[in-house]
Amino acid sequence: MGKIIAVGNQKGGVGKTTTAINLAAAIAVNELKVLLVDSDPQANATSGSGADFTNSEGSLYEVIAGSVEIGRAILPTELPLLYLLPASKNLAGLEIELAEDENRANVLKAVLEPIRENYDFIIVDCPPSLGILTLNGLTAADSIIVPVQCEYFALEGVAELFETLEMVKSRLNNNLTVEGLLLTMYDERTNLSSAVAGELRSHYSDHVFRTVIPRNVRLAEAPSYGKPIILYDIKSKGAESYLELAREIINNGKTTIGTWA
Ligand code: ATP
Ligand code: MG
Repeated sequence: MGKIIAVGNQKGGVGKTTTAINLAAAIAVNELKVLLVDSDPQANATSGSGADFTNSEGSLYEVIAGSVEIGRAILPTELPLLYLLPASKNLAGLEIELAEDENRANVLKAVLEPIRENYDFIIVDCPPSLGILTLNGLTAADSIIVPVQCEYFALEGVAELFETLEMVKSRLNNNLTVEGLLLTMYDERTNLSSAVAGELRSHYSDHVFRTVIPRNVRLAEAPSYGKPIILYDIKSKGAESYLELAREIINNGKTTIGTWA
């Protein structure tokens, strides 16, 4: 039964998509079968994954709408064990389209449940908001990875996110756990990076991954070539760090933690 991990933070540009793509790829090279689900209308994970669109029949939107069967929407990528369920711009309309639907936070879960057993991991890239798409990601997920950019207001956003996680846990998904907070774009030359890291570890010690993702230009370049970092530059610090994160998650004893209060 595949483990479903959402990558979420309502703050924009903190490294969610970079983490979703590169973690998914790094798990796949460990000989585990991975589905990357792009639930963001920006579709950055879709374009950055290097999926083969030749036989594309539809995106997550059509799957949720019921017009395309999920097996027909899932695409192969350059990595043999990495697959993509792509996003498209019309996902942005779901917020309004589902407004009256009392099951609106459960649509992603319903779509993923039947194919869950086909994968070892399902990684869901969430958009930068706490709207219906992120709520769906959190309802479908077993755990969440929260990328935190090493910058000044990072911690305030995390506190707000944890309030949402409490709400989701009590109303929508009792089993949700925190896989970990992930420090991203860490720059060892700046005091700010180490200050944010220090503060995050003192507030959320057990929930912060040992692995830290450095600021690395190769990670920023890779999506424009439609490649995960391990195919773009396996020797880069960025590739090394996501491989380390994958190992930490594959071996993660934390996955049984049920509370973060
Ligand atoms: P959004 O909230 O818009 O979905 P996001 O949280 O998914 O954004 P990304 O798209 O992953 O964030 O990253 C934002 C920008 O920072 C991108 O241009 C990306 O290439 C770059 N970036 C992410 N992580 C790193 C890193 N470790 N080193 C250098 N650049 C990075
Ligand atoms: Mg993103």
